[in-house]
Amino acid sequence: MNIQEILFRQKDFFKTQKTKNLKFRKMYLEKLRDLIIENQSLLNEAIYKDFGKSEFDTFTTEISFILNDIRYYLNHLKALAKPKKVRTNLASQIGKSKIYPEPLGCVLVIGAWNYPYQLSLSPMIAALAAGNCCIVKPSEIAENTMKIISKLINENFPPEYMYVFEGGIDETTELLQLRFDKIFFTGSTKVGKIVYQAAAQNLTPVTLELGGKSPAIVTKDANLDIAAKRIVWGKFLNAGQTCVAPDYILVEESVQEQFLETLRKYIREFKYEPDSKNYTRIINQKNFQRLIKLIDKNKIYFGGNFDQEQLYIEPTVLTRVNWDNDVMQEEIFGPILPVISFSGFNHTLNSLLELEKPLSAYLFTNNSEEKEAFIQKLSFGGGCINDVVMHLGNENLPFGGIGNSGTGNYHGKFGFETFSHQKPVLEKTTWGEPNVKYPPYSEKKLNWIKRFL
Ligand code: NAD
Repeated sequence: MNIQEILFRQKDFFKTQKTKNLKFRKMYLEKLRDLIIENQSLLNEAIYKDFGKSEFDTFTTEISFILNDIRYYLNHLKALAKPKKVRTNLASQIGKSKIYPEPLGCVLVIGAWNYPYQLSLSPMIAALAAGNCCIVKPSEIAENTMKIISKLINENFPPEYMYVFEGGIDETTELLQLRFDKIFFTGSTKVGKIVYQAAAQNLTPVTLELGGKSPAIVTKDANLDIAAKRIVWGKFLNAGQTCVAPDYILVEESVQEQFLETLRKYIREFKYEPDSKNYTRIINQKNFQRLIKLIDKNKIYFGGNFDQEQLYIEPTVLTRVNWDNDVMQEEIFGPILPVISFSGFNHTLNSLLELEKPLSAYLFTNNSEEKEAFIQKLSFGGGCINDVVMHLGNENLPFGGIGNSGTGNYHGKFGFETFSHQKPVLEKTTWGEPNVKYPPYSEKKLNWIKRFL
């Protein structure tokens, strides 16, 4: 069966209205949950083969995430799908107004490789919870995970409801020519533009979860020990291959030395060694080569070692970095952390306003004026004060970018809404019909209308 046929079957299946039934949705979400739990060791094995990701990291950043999503929708489905009563204004009386969340139809989810389970399955779960059919195209770059996702889903679920399509650029290009009711894409800004253009041909709505350079600012009023510990964890998690990882650090000059020493202390303490299970590998030779070129030997404060065969790059901190250095021209997406010092907080915020809006931004300080200025002045997809990355794990917060880092969001109820149309319906009584809006118009009628509306 080719992919076009599968989409046609999904469209026919959607028309049967079966996916609108909440019991049906729950049954499949439960089945998916059980399948993931039963096959955890296969999932662990595949991701370890792809880029050496440990069982610990796979559980905390992938499996638990997906299971949590399923649990959230199982617990909240009834409330999320329920029509919402809203007030009816005077002009629409006598009547009642409701918003009916309705599924969009057949959606396409295109995933990225760096969190291969989470980024393919989490949007799919939200799409299914909202009552859609779904085709998922995981990233071919993480080949083993793509294959296991496809095997598990395609062997256990009806293709007319959910289906995993394997492939790379050619296959995605083929998919993008088909008419979906929604496209949810996670990946680079460059490919995001290709997806957006293709979607425009069919006026298909899109959610684009993209990347960018996410700053972390550390001021003299920060708890430096906590700042360094949390930044080291968030930056070197997945070997820096995390869309919301702090890309670079802006640290206030007066505390730079102390902060750098604390960074070094934690990198050592966390033992990101070549043969340790605490540290993920670089996904492939292409990315490895791109990354080692960004390590300027003259600027290494810590690290800088690598092993090409093992695709290992040591956590590397660079200092005396300038905005025009290569490492500051692109999203790093690897375990290299440039540190730039600054002397005026407000001036630094202003300089960030000149850059593309990042997916995330982080501020470490205990100064309330700095916190306020950070929130009010800077525009970014989402972020944390006194932490990194963790905002993504709170399903009560929407997750998404802005401008070059993306459009739209998901997680929790926001994911449900992303895959739903909010259909407004006004239901009128057939009695109590004021004649004032109908022709023939008169001065008197207009005066009435002016008084009441
Ligand atoms: P990518 O854009 O290269 O690939 C993403 C997907 O697009 C893959 O499934 C791939 O097969 C497909 N693709 C690649 N080139 C294509 C083309 N020319 N035409 C059609 N489809 C194409 O991204 P990646 O390397 O997998 O991921 C890294 C990027 O994703 C980083 O920029 C990172 O910040 C971003 N990212 C964002 C989030 C987020 O949630 N915002 C999460 C993870 C990664």
